[in-house]
Amino acid sequence: MANNIKTFDPLSNFNKAIKTLEKNNIRTTKQRMVLAKLLFEKGRRHISAEELFDEVKENDRKISLATIYNTLRQFTSLGLIREIVVDQNKSLYCTNNESHYHLYIEDEGKIIDIPTKNIDLNIASMPACLNLHNIDVIVRIRTLKEKNIN
Ligand SMILES: [Zn+2]
Repeated sequence: MANNIKTFDPLSNFNKAIKTLEKNNIRTTKQRMVLAKLLFEKGRRHISAEELFDEVKENDRKISLATIYNTLRQFTSLGLIREIVVDQNKSLYCTNNESHYHLYIEDEGKIIDIPTKNIDLNIASMPACLNLHNIDVIVRIRTLKEKNIN
């Protein structure tokens, strides 16, 4: 019987990222390698630039926040990660390359992947000159908390 279960292989995502950089003639600098490793070695997740900056420090590396922003932007444009703009001042970066939507728990700042089949979208047909490129969906929810009266 064929084994169709996909197991998570952090190395393959890292290698894919490095290959993509090379294919696009982007130098695989030490900093880009470190950031790619940190981003992908922990599997599917959503991380902000600031959180990645903290992980860099925890790993005794020195990479500026500006470099992290630039690299995240670059990785996003190469399709290695997805940027989720949760509000005007906050973006999270998603390392899950498979097609999916997002559930954002606003008061916890937490984001969860949801399968695209869970949301039925009725997209109007496109004029022939346009091509559907991508659909980003963020479902925003809040936890029910008892409000303090005072
Ligand atoms: Zn995601």
